[in-house]
Amino acid sequence: MNYKMLSRLFLLLILQINSISVFAQNISAQTANLTAIKCGRLINPVSGSITTSAVIIVNGDQIAQVGVNLPIPAGSKIIDLTAYTVLPGLIDCHTHVLLQPEDERGAPPVITKSQAFRTVQAVAAAKRDLEAGFTTMRDLDSEGAGFADVAVRDGINRGIIPGPRFLVSTYALTITGGHMNNAGLNPDIQIPEPATLTDSREAMIAEVRREVKYGADWIKLYATGTLRHVDPVTLEPLSQVSLDDVKAVVAEAARWHRDVAAHAYGGDGAKNEIRGGVRSLEHGMLMDDEALKLLVENGTYWCPTLSVYLPESAEDDTEMRRRIVAHHKEVFQKAMRMGVKICFGTDVGAFEHGTSAREFVKMVEYGMQPIDAIRSATVRAAELLRMEKQLGNIESGKLADIIAVDGNPLNDIKALTRVTFVMKDGKVFKSPLNH
Ligand SMILES: [Zn+2]
Repeated sequence: MNYKMLSRLFLLLILQINSISVFAQNISAQTANLTAIKCGRLINPVSGSITTSAVIIVNGDQIAQVGVNLPIPAGSKIIDLTAYTVLPGLIDCHTHVLLQPEDERGAPPVITKSQAFRTVQAVAAAKRDLEAGFTTMRDLDSEGAGFADVAVRDGINRGIIPGPRFLVSTYALTITGGHMNNAGLNPDIQIPEPATLTDSREAMIAEVRREVKYGADWIKLYATGTLRHVDPVTLEPLSQVSLDDVKAVVAEAARWHRDVAAHAYGGDGAKNEIRGGVRSLEHGMLMDDEALKLLVENGTYWCPTLSVYLPESAEDDTEMRRRIVAHHKEVFQKAMRMGVKICFGTDVGAFEHGTSAREFVKMVEYGMQPIDAIRSATVRAAELLRMEKQLGNIESGKLADIIAVDGNPLNDIKALTRVTFVMKDGKVFKSPLNH
C-alpha cells in the first residue's frame, strides 16, 4: 500500500466517522421529540380491527410507528392509555362554530349579536368541540358572521387558541326569499342577511370568487329551502337552483381548487345538485330512490345530520316534524343498503357544542354497525375532505390526531360520548393523566 492509497483510506475513515456521529445526533434529536402512547385497545377504522397492547410512537406532529408491544425508544415521553380505547381523531363534516343553540330560538343572531361577540362564543365552542374528540371540522357557513370563521381557523392554526383543524366556508350562497333569509320583517329595514343573496348565475360566480379571496376552504350552496318552505302535504322542498346554476358554481369553485357542499332536503334541488357535481349533499332527509341512486352513480358523499332534526321541545313535536324524521330514518337505511358514501355530519351549533357524538348513537340506533359509524367520521370523512393521506387512521406517516374513550365503542357506541384524551398534531389538549 503506497502513501496515496493510505491517505485516501484515512480520508474515507474520517468521512465514515463523521456520518456516524451525524446519524447519532439525528437519533437523539428525534428521541427528544418522541412520545409513546400505550393503548388498552386500538381501533383501526380501515381494517375494522381492534387490537390490544398496541403502542403508537409519535414524532413531532406525525405518527412514526404503530404496533403491538413495540419497544419504546429511550427518552420517549410515555402516555399510558391502557385503561382506554384509542382511535383516530374524529371528523365532523357539518358544523357551525359561529352558531349557538340559543340562536335557534327567537331572532337570528345577525340581528341580536355583534360579530365580535359571536366570535368570542366561537372561541369557547371550538375548545369544547376539540375536547369532545373532534380534531377536524368542516364548518359549513358562518350563518352571517362574515369571515369570522376564517379568523377562528387562523387563530387555531397559529396556536393562539385551542380548537379543531377547521375547513371553513364563510357565507353560504342562497336566493332572495330562500333559505337563510330574514323572513317576516318590514321590507324597508336594511339588515344583514345570514347568507349571501345570489339571484343570478353571475352573482353566484362573483360570490365564489369573493369568498375564496377572503379565505374560504369550501363553498356552501343552498340548493333547497328550509323547513318553512316544505310543502306540508307532499313534503316537497323548495328547489333553489337549476342544474346549470350548480354546474356554474362547481366549475368556478374548481378553478380555485375548492369543492362545493350543498344543502338539500330532496326533490329537484337535490337532483340538480348531485348531477351538477357537488362533492357532498347535506341533510337529504326527503330524498327519493332516484336521488339515492344518483348519489351512488356520481360518488357524491352524503352527510345525513340525523339528530338535529329530532324535535327538542313539545313545540317542535308536530305531526309534520314526525313525518320528516320517519322519512329521514327510512332514507338513511336505504342509503346504507345501496352503498351511498355516508359521512358523519351533525349541524352542531344548532345544538350544544361538544355533544356531536350523539349523532353516532342515532346512526347505530337506525341500524349502522358501530365500526361503520366510526369509519364515517374518520377514514370516509378524510376522503371527503381530500385529506386521506394525512387523516382518518392511526398509521405511520399520518398526522398525530389521536383520541381515547372510556369503554369500547364497538360494544357500546355511547363510549364515544366519553372522550378522555385528545391529541391533535402531536399536541395533547385533554388527558386523564397527570403529565
Ligand atoms: Zn348546517
